[in-house]
Amino acid sequence: MKDMDISYIINELGEERENYFNAVSPPIIQTSNFTFNTVSDFRAAMADEFETTIYSRGNNPTLNILRQKLAALDGAEDALVFASGVAAITVPVLALLKQGDHVVCVENCYSWTIKLFRDMLPRFGVSCTFVDGSQTENFETALQTNTKLIYLESPNTFSYELQDLSALAKIAKAKGIITMIDNSYCSPLYQQPIAHGIDLVMQTATKYIGGHSDVVAGVLSGPKALLKQIFNHEFMTVGATLSPNSAWLLIRGLRTLPLRVNRSFESTKAITAWLQKHPKVDKVIWPFLPGFKQTELAKKQMKGCGGLFSFTLKDSSVATIEAFCNKLQHILMAVSWGGHESLIIPSIVGVPTADFDATNPRHHLIRMYVGLEDADYLITDLERALG
Ligand SMILES: *Cc1c(COP(=O)(O)O)cnc(C)c1O
Repeated sequence: MKDMDISYIINELGEERENYFNAVSPPIIQTSNFTFNTVSDFRAAMADEFETTIYSRGNNPTLNILRQKLAALDGAEDALVFASGVAAITVPVLALLKQGDHVVCVENCYSWTIKLFRDMLPRFGVSCTFVDGSQTENFETALQTNTKLIYLESPNTFSYELQDLSALAKIAKAKGIITMIDNSYCSPLYQQPIAHGIDLVMQTATKYIGGHSDVVAGVLSGPKALLKQIFNHEFMTVGATLSPNSAWLLIRGLRTLPLRVNRSFESTKAITAWLQKHPKVDKVIWPFLPGFKQTELAKKQMKGCGGLFSFTLKDSSVATIEAFCNKLQHILMAVSWGGHESLIIPSIVGVPTADFDATNPRHHLIRMYVGLEDADYLITDLERALG
């Protein structure tokens, strides 16, 4: 699995063109259900829905092409796809935990993941400890006899702290604890958590996989037996199913994934280096930038780096941050990332004005996503707005 060529995966794997007129682009099988010729065929299918196509809440041929490609990119036995990234988090978490269980989760992870572990699961008797993930010992200290899951996100998408994946996988395996990671930032091209021993890998496909800001979707990769168990229960029950049309857009996105991710990485190198030297800029935070506090670990477990980074201005008043963002003409102000278009989001948009804390460094962060425009074009926009 691990050695499959990326070009083969994104251009050929899973595509049986002779079954659809030798079309290069696969068909969108826009159907909710599938028919059977005999009762015995129908009965056999019902006995194992994971392996058959009965109803599109479960399997659909267009989605199954996508699943094979995504699993191979992650070096996994199989993958499930969902109608959103958060569904690819919530469904396996519901599958793995029961009343009385405990989770150790890295702090500063995706906001809706925090909501799941901090606010929702306690209502069902599941507790969670959040830890600073930059020190592996913090996870060990937080483990309890009822810990069933270690949840990671390395790096996160605002302050980019990393966790040591191999070390944590080893600790978890020794204690029979399942590990899961949100690998959205790196994409499977730049980080392969399964090769480090992590059990389940999710990513939002809304970002780099789709790549054009026109689909919301999620991916969960892992061992086939575990995914089958999740499919037969929580996946089918929650029903966060991706539409065939969205799956087709993701297959199309995959065709150019390496081009887009590499372009974003290269431009981010140039833009972060330029910003770091600008007299009005204070700090630039990006895992592959010299001076990042975990550079060594980043270089060890990441083959490249995502096009998201954060920075702060020397004059970090709300008025200055607002004036800078409002002056940008080409870099768009929006949530999300991973598309063709460069984006900016100052963290103050998530802080009610009355709660702004000038002494909290997180409140000063401005996050930028570097899209596919020319780096010089983006630098000119930043230069003008910095004034
Ligand atoms: C966007 C995002 C998600 C959630 O994905 P959706 O497709 O929006 O549901 C999860 N994790 C990270 C790191 C993200 O950026």
